[in-house]
Amino acid sequence: MPTKALQRLREEVLEANLELVRRGLVLYTFGNASGILRDEGLIVIKPSGVPYETMKPEHLVITDLEGKVLESTLRPSSDLSTHVALYQAFPTIGGVVHTHSEYATAWAQAGREIPCFGTTHADYFHGAVPVTEPMPGEEIEGDYEKNTGAAIIRRFRSLNPNAVPAVLVANHGPFTWGRDPSTAAHNAVVLESIARMAFFTVTINNEANAIGKTLHDRHYLRKHGSKAYYGQEKDAK
Ligand SMILES: [Zn+2]
Repeated sequence: MPTKALQRLREEVLEANLELVRRGLVLYTFGNASGILRDEGLIVIKPSGVPYETMKPEHLVITDLEGKVLESTLRPSSDLSTHVALYQAFPTIGGVVHTHSEYATAWAQAGREIPCFGTTHADYFHGAVPVTEPMPGEEIEGDYEKNTGAAIIRRFRSLNPNAVPAVLVANHGPFTWGRDPSTAAHNAVVLESIARMAFFTVTINNEANAIGKTLHDRHYLRKHGSKAYYGQEKDAK
């Protein structure tokens, strides 16, 4: 099974996990990043409870597309089932990240979506960053991590996960995703920044208005979609 693509994905997933540490999004062993090789039917995810300082590509856990562990002596992140649910529901994504980064988690705990107050938000998220409905007791007592995925998917029934690559799970914290693990981690970093700015915005003016649609669309669409023109040819970062 050790193909070149899998080895590359292990390194990418490790790097995405380490990026969360470098950017101050996680404490101790909190947080997790994963990636998927859809053609090969494999998911690579952070192991549970291994310190980031000693984590190596070979510590990452390989599972099939149902989340069944194929290769590892370590247990996968306990949030694996949420990642699996998102990969199954959102067929275009290639990486998922979960953190308890403070500002995004504060909005999640408040049960409030993050309105798009400015162009930094509009560059990345086409619309507010949504918050899920609180999960009913039987879903929490049941297959909790899988049901967390189901709560996110329910929230995205009328949303496009490619245009809004982030969600706040009520009373819990953010999940982000992207075309690959590094984009998912990048989106987690940007989400934390816009969550922080939005908090300051409503603190300064609790009647602040969300950005107008024209400015929002202008910023989002110059970086995304068929008429994108921001950045260099390949990468719009
Ligand atoms: Zn969590």
